[in-house]
Amino acid sequence: MKRKNKKEIEFICPKCKTKESIPTKIVEMLDSMDQSGDTSVPPRFDCMNCNGKMVPIYYIGVKGQVYEYHENNLK
Ligand SMILES: [Zn+2]
Repeated sequence: MKRKNKKEIEFICPKCKTKESIPTKIVEMLDSMDQSGDTSVPPRFDCMNCNGKMVPIYYIGVKGQVYEYHENNLK
């Protein structure tokens, strides 16, 4: 069974824990524009509150890769 993204993707800033919902269309557009070919890095957005980069809590990329945020990923 294929899982799908919701209409909006919830992003979180690992530094200050700010959460923000970003329309999936915008995330996918950014994702597909990434020409680096590095699929291990999810699309990220600048945090409004600090200099951190917001990452998706759960997002299925345009190439089918799944990005999940886990608190214990933090170093
Ligand atoms: Zn932040």
